[in-house]
Amino acid sequence: MARRVCRAPSRSGGGAPGEVATLKELGSRSCRKIAVVGRGTAGALAAASVSRLHPERDHELHHIYDSRIPIIGVGEGSWPSLVRDLQQLLQLPHETVQQRLNGTRKFGNRFEGWGRRRQDFTHYFTPQQVAYAYHLSADVMADLLCASTQARHIDAKVTAIRSVDGGARVEFEGRESERYDLVFDARGYPRQLDPQEHIDISFIPTNCAVIRRCPPVITAPPNGPVREPLYTRAVARPHGWVFVIPLTVHTSYGYVFNKDVSDLDAVEADFDELLAEEGVSDFEQRGVIPFPNYVHRRIYDGAVVRVGNAAAFMEPLEATAIRLAQLQVALVLRMRFHRPAEYVQGDAPVINRFLVTDALLAGLFVGWHYCCGSKYDSPFWRNARDRVWPNYREATDPLVVDSSALRKFDEMIELVDAQIPDPADWGRQCAFFPVSSFVQMAHGLGAPLGRKRDSQPT
Ligand SMILES: Cc1cc2nc3c(=O)[nH]c(=O)nc-3n(C[C@H](O)[C@H](O)[C@H](O)COP(=O)(O)OP(=O)(O)OC[C@H]3O[C@@H](n4cnc5c(N)ncnc54)[C@H](O)[C@@H]3O)c2cc1C
Repeated sequence: MARRVCRAPSRSGGGAPGEVATLKELGSRSCRKIAVVGRGTAGALAAASVSRLHPERDHELHHIYDSRIPIIGVGEGSWPSLVRDLQQLLQLPHETVQQRLNGTRKFGNRFEGWGRRRQDFTHYFTPQQVAYAYHLSADVMADLLCASTQARHIDAKVTAIRSVDGGARVEFEGRESERYDLVFDARGYPRQLDPQEHIDISFIPTNCAVIRRCPPVITAPPNGPVREPLYTRAVARPHGWVFVIPLTVHTSYGYVFNKDVSDLDAVEADFDELLAEEGVSDFEQRGVIPFPNYVHRRIYDGAVVRVGNAAAFMEPLEATAIRLAQLQVALVLRMRFHRPAEYVQGDAPVINRFLVTDALLAGLFVGWHYCCGSKYDSPFWRNARDRVWPNYREATDPLVVDSSALRKFDEMIELVDAQIPDPADWGRQCAFFPVSSFVQMAHGLGAPLGRKRDSQPT
């Protein structure tokens, strides 16, 4: 992405003297004092990554969060890269990590009732039936990461984070402000969207979720992890869809819907019906969570990097949030630690555009899942397919969002339209979705739906 040559030195440090060692020192030395604001999944991931990956022993990390502001606490599906990242950050065998997370192995998503084919199908991770991610307890993951992080903890409310010359200043309620070389802002999603700051991606037709916790359906063996292949279920319902995530301690159910289209009482009643059909009589009501679908225009400016829900949010259909946070943290740290300090300002817009594009592509992939409707001919599904999704081109117009996301998405749809992509294209990805993900979804939903077909009613 960055045009200048970036030689990635080894992390072991102290290697042969020369240019590479000098560059490394310059980069990591320019960000010795770092703050992470927020202790949800994203903040915990950022703090653990700084603590584990900072090449300078004498760096200073402040992990700041307001214990009166709860974390969102949902986020139980993930992508395979998390298995490797957690092993590295926690320095534990992956089987131990899985057990500590109350986790099971997620091999993909099982779509029930989606699309025009009226047949259930699975979107597997690639390579199919080999790669797996975790279903995990989100709060436990944050605790585990924090336990392996060396940082000074500050329990305080942050009132502002401002970029200043060569760094950023964090302002607090009831304490002196402090200057840092780099600040991770992981304070969760904004209450209201501001068009100056946020790209509204409401071509995604949902904006609220009801969460219920039900008894486990998986029994963990006494001395090891659950090994059987499992899937996040995405069950189409008249008012939206329901995720079903099997953990060893409970099964998580979430009804994702649009509060402007469906009445909460009607959603709750249909939720009851689904649980009754599944033979689930006990559940704990965990809350109703409204959410925006958006991407921040400025994820990284050279001094402040937004991560997790503070950078972008979209409904949980493909469990994109943790994966996006992993990328935001890893990319910025890699560039800051291993590129010379003098490149920071030049790199920042390039990195920002890359991260914005990545998040927009995740949004486009998720929104596309609604393009063929479902087995329900209900107000929610008609609205999603016929009115909401068709806005995606306008919402991601390159002139408006300063990103090539739409072109990249179109290229993937063209590959899908080719039915069997050319072997030269088998390795292509669009954000973190390989071409095999697009092809599986297209077949399952009953697409292809190339650009030319967008205007035709289904
Ligand atoms: C229904 C639903 C299902 C989801 N499912 C998935 C899934 O399966 N997979 C997935 O990857 N993601 C999922 N997500 C997304 C999930 O929310 C994120 O993965 C994850 O929780 C990231 O949250 P966060 O750390 O960015 O923010 P939060 O969890 O909101 O944490 C914010 C932190 O910032 C602190 N804070 C806030 N304001 C201040 C302040 N002013 N001063 C100091 N501290 C402050 C808070 O104390 C808290 O520690 C789901 C989301 C929803 C709504």
